[in-house]
Formats: sequence, structure tokens, C-alpha cells
Amino acid sequence: MDSSVLDVWKAFVAAPSPSGFEQPVARLYRNYVKPFAHRVTTDVLGNVSAVINPDAPLRFMYAGHMDEVGFIVHHIDDAGFLFFNAIGGTDVATEIGQRVWVHGSEPVLGVIGRKSIQTFQSSDMTQTPTLKDLWIDIGASSREDAEKRIRIGNPVTLAAKFALLGDRLAVGRAFDNKVGLLIGAELVRRLSKDDRVHPDVGFHVLGTVQEEIGSRGAKTAGFNIAPHLALAIDMGVAVDYPRARPEDQGALYLGGGPGISQGANTNPVLFDLLVKTATEAAIPYQQQAVGGTSPTDARVVQELRGGVATGVISVPLRYMHTPSEVVCIDDIQATIELVHEFCCRLRPDMNFTPV
Ligand SMILES: [Zn+2]
Repeated sequence: MDSSVLDVWKAFVAAPSPSGFEQPVARLYRNYVKPFAHRVTTDVLGNVSAVINPDAPLRFMYAGHMDEVGFIVHHIDDAGFLFFNAIGGTDVATEIGQRVWVHGSEPVLGVIGRKSIQTFQSSDMTQTPTLKDLWIDIGASSREDAEKRIRIGNPVTLAAKFALLGDRLAVGRAFDNKVGLLIGAELVRRLSKDDRVHPDVGFHVLGTVQEEIGSRGAKTAGFNIAPHLALAIDMGVAVDYPRARPEDQGALYLGGGPGISQGANTNPVLFDLLVKTATEAAIPYQQQAVGGTSPTDARVVQELRGGVATGVISVPLRYMHTPSEVVCIDDIQATIELVHEFCCRLRPDMNFTPV
């Protein structure tokens, strides 16, 4: 991976963006795409749209959500401990003992505390704790002391940092879906310089908000754009860890290239074009099958207005929604290539109606 792309990725990961609090990463995305896009807008929910060919009659929408799972402070006790609930789906077992940033007027370091193992009852050894069993300790001496820096309603993010893991992997928090945002940023840069892009195809490359709590940003941004076709680029649950059973949920491996979903959320014409693109450009990909609705922005975009031809591309990710998500750099590269090549093949007279 180009070192400048790696730097953008690290900056996106370092920027806190729990659902509803996406502004820090939205600012980075906006600044990055500004020199390349013909138009950059931010809507009232906070979705950022970078557009190539804004007046083109055929509109393609790229949805890469900017938000991440996190927490929000809902109570401060007399001793100055913070109590919190989750923003999005988080795994409590991976959070105990983690360092966090509480985003008050300044970021405040805290740790997620739980009673010590030395005080466990026998039932504590077998029961999974819930968020109600945890608190955040910021080293405050009292409620008044805590309230000098923290207010109820402040968001919280895990403090885990980005690191390379072996030769081809990386570990960090919130790769879901800063990786999808990175691919979007790189797509805008590439499309702006590629003369294969048809002038009558408009590319609306979005960092969407609030995906983790129900794809709320993609819904409103998509309504305004009224795209003819769309791709959701998100992370897919890799099942290449010990004791995983592909018989139960299908296979998705790190290093095998992006997953291309087939199922009700995928338009058959768009699916064929994605597979044809990957084959012609010799880009590795993995076939995925989704029986129900897709847990991505594609779910809501497909049902907008009179319907949109949607597809889902998943970058394989281990340990999703934990402090240590693991991704393969080659899969990110392959996904950038696939989406870029796909966009270059779009023509204004294409018809995505399945017949
Ligand atoms: Zn996601």
C-alpha cells in the first residue's frame, strides 16, 4: 500500500466517530476529497458527499459508513465513576480493562473497570458480564471533579491504536468502517484522474453516518441523491479463525479478496457486472451468499423511492466490533481496484432492470 494511503487510513482510524458524533472523521474525509471532487457537500445529518460529474444523468452512489461503535456517558456517581451505554452492537467481553477516550471538551483518558477476579462469587465465573457491571474510571476524586472535564452525553471510544500485524495484516479499532471510507476516498482520487470515466455518469461517493444504529444516514442521503445504482462497501465477518465452521455461515478469508454478495439485496445485473469486472481485471474476490437482508447501507438504499439497483462488497475482517479488528492490506487494495474498475465500466445507457 502506498504510504500516503496508509497515512490517510491511520488518520481516519485515529479520528473518533461513534454514530451521531462523526464530525472529526467527516472533516478529514471532506478535506481529503476536496482537491479531487467536482463538488463536496455535507447534509443536515452529517453525511459527506464527494461528487464527480454532479450533473450527469446516471447517478451511482457509493456508501461507506463513517461511524463506528462506541459508548455514551449517561451517569456520573458521587465518587466520580462514569456509567455508560453502547452506541451500536459491542461485545462486552472484549471491553473489560480497555483504555478509552471520553470526549469531553478535551479527550479524557479512562479505563473500563469491573470488580476484580479475587472478589468473584462462583456464579461470576460462568456468567457473561453486561455493561451494567462495568464503569469508566477517569481518576476523578468526586462527581464535582469529574464534571470539570466530563458531561452526561459525552461519547466514548476505545483507545486501541493502529499497528501492522505481520507482513500483510493490520490491527486497530474501528476498521469497520474506516476501511470503507478509505476506499471511497481513494476512489474519488482515482476517478478524478481517469479518462475512462464516462462524463454522463455521476459518482456520488459518500461517507454516511449512523449506519451502526440502522443505516439512518444512507437513507436520507440516498433520498436526496436519488441514485440509479449503489454499492455499500463495508466489512464482512471473516471466518478463518480457529474452530470456525464455514458449514454454518459460509467462508470468508483474509487475503482472498473482497466478498461479493449474492442475495435479495443484490441486483442481478449489477452482480454480473461486478463479477465480470473482477474476472477481466484479474482481481481476486470471494463469493458470498446472504439469504435475508444485508446488514449494510445497501438494505435501506435499495428501497429508496422507486427502488435502486444495489450491491454489497465486504472487506474480510476478524474480530469485528472489538478493540482489535484485523484486516488484510491486500484485500483493501483489491477492493479499491474492483470498485474503481467497476466505475470505469459504467455507461449512461445501462439498464439494471432484471429480466
Ligand atoms: Zn460496518
